[in-house]
Amino acid sequence: MKYLITALLLATALYGCGEKTDNTGTGKADASKLSSSEVTANQKPVREASTTTEKEFQQLSKQMVERMWHLFPSWAISNGYYQVAERLEAPDNNYRQKVLGFAREYRNEFSRFKPEQLSDNARTDLALIHNFLDETVWKLNVFKPHEWNPANYNVSHGFALILNTDYAPLEDRLRSFSNRMQLVPAYYAAAKQSLQNPASPQLILAIQQNEGAQSVFGEDTEKTLATSGLSDKEKELFKSRLATTREAIEDYVAHLHNLHTKMEKADSFHDFRIGEKLYEEKFAYDIQIGMSGEELYQRALKEKDRLHLKMDELADKLWPKYFETEKKPDDILEKISRVLEKLSLNHATKEDFKASVEAQIPELVQFVNEKDLLTLDPDKPLVVRTTPPYMRGFAVASINAPGPYDTGANTYYNVMPVEDLPDDRAESFLREYNTYLMQILNIHEAIPGHYTQLVYANKSPSLIKNIFGNGAMIEGWAVYTERMMLEAGYGDFSPELWMMYYKWNLRTVVNTILDYSIQVKGMTEQEAMDLLMKQAFQQKTEAMGKWRRATLSQVQLTSYFAGYMDIMALRDEIKEIQGDDFDLKKFHEKFLSYGNAPVPVIRELMLADIKA
Ligand code: ZN
Ligand code: ZN
Repeated sequence: MKYLITALLLATALYGCGEKTDNTGTGKADASKLSSSEVTANQKPVREASTTTEKEFQQLSKQMVERMWHLFPSWAISNGYYQVAERLEAPDNNYRQKVLGFAREYRNEFSRFKPEQLSDNARTDLALIHNFLDETVWKLNVFKPHEWNPANYNVSHGFALILNTDYAPLEDRLRSFSNRMQLVPAYYAAAKQSLQNPASPQLILAIQQNEGAQSVFGEDTEKTLATSGLSDKEKELFKSRLATTREAIEDYVAHLHNLHTKMEKADSFHDFRIGEKLYEEKFAYDIQIGMSGEELYQRALKEKDRLHLKMDELADKLWPKYFETEKKPDDILEKISRVLEKLSLNHATKEDFKASVEAQIPELVQFVNEKDLLTLDPDKPLVVRTTPPYMRGFAVASINAPGPYDTGANTYYNVMPVEDLPDDRAESFLREYNTYLMQILNIHEAIPGHYTQLVYANKSPSLIKNIFGNGAMIEGWAVYTERMMLEAGYGDFSPELWMMYYKWNLRTVVNTILDYSIQVKGMTEQEAMDLLMKQAFQQKTEAMGKWRRATLSQVQLTSYFAGYMDIMALRDEIKEIQGDDFDLKKFHEKFLSYGNAPVPVIRELMLADIKA
């Protein structure tokens, strides 16, 4: 979902999708990164870096990334860059000044490049670099999450990756783990000092996640240590550092508890709603489409009404088949809801859930090939597996690709282990992820959604796009493919499948409405529950999770709809220009060839290409 980032950086670059319960980008061991495994020198650039300017640009990008990894070691580790595994930044004021210096220096350095002198690939990189550097400065000087978001501070993710990733022999990894632990007390001391006035949901999350962090420094780690080939002396040292680390985390959690009590009494929490000004600024950096957050919100309101009308038509059509002579409810939303409930009864069993996902993948491949929608690379198979324990918790299904520095590893499609759930929870889960919905989710996550996009992105030889990939483009593509596949006749235009598709699509639209309404317009929890349950047909537990997520993150929930709308608009625009010459397959392949760039940047390049 991808990456863990420090208090100073982009709040999250995690694009694991489906539905995550939290999105603060902290303390997660379940980073399903959308990053490539094969961004190496043996791949040919789209256009050769022939000019001196181009070479200089590549050189400077490379140098900046190196500097970045030393400045942000936790982020580096989550990208598979383990050379800095023993480092841990202490997030104090001095450190923030260093980051600010870094951002300003490179902003200045990169300002000498003019986009028109660069190749397509470099130009799109440049846009992402500018955006990243500007956002870094904005975060430190304006947004300041280091002062109010205590969940930004959590050391566990990097340690978990060092322990659980097979990048080096166990003994080497344990030594890095051990050395890195020495820096934990300074880390939390800096965190305590930096925190000024926490927001309440973030404070509660921070307590929870840091309590959870203890498990990375618990019995399992001690067992691993005992079986390792470390010397007795090394083992002793490791254990004493483990104790110090646990104490530092405990102390931080105690500090947060105190803060909570004090602030609750004084009713002085920082407002988790960021308000219009900050929202629009964050929206511009994170989403990068040619419209404001407010405009997108207005669009989403209209789209919600349009989807309700479509669902109403389908509900009328399906009613006699499922309810025979029973009288239809007068209320449209109630009628839709009844039909959806009925359709949800068509689901896999606990035992065959994973197998049914597995069986779907070749069907999707076959359909994409038959309809000639885009070229799939047969050399890059997708491995379906049960989500490993340390990554469980929020996503039903997610794509897990190794970071740009781990080469040659598999790409996994993680599926939640439903068989472990108690019967009643399994039943409700299986209804939600019923036979219709799972087909749409598989399109979104795997083929031709995230997984296919990832394979294409890997052929665009850009480390920059791997690291700063645009979330709206990545999510937008996956959402776009759901509709594109159904339009091409996947599922044989079954009204049941379309009905469930609309419910799923409505979720994307309502995410946008919810995010804007809560963050800018002050929507209350009750109003949010009403929107989610009555107007978007969600179950209570799901709606509660969504409220929580919407109070913890800002803007990210809009990325799905923003990217989707932008891609649909681009397709229409190009259809209009090309008329009878428009070719869907060519459009898809061209669109994907630019890597994880923002849609407006891709648009500019595609239109220039068409004119040429
Ligand atoms: Zn997604
Ligand atoms: Zn059932």
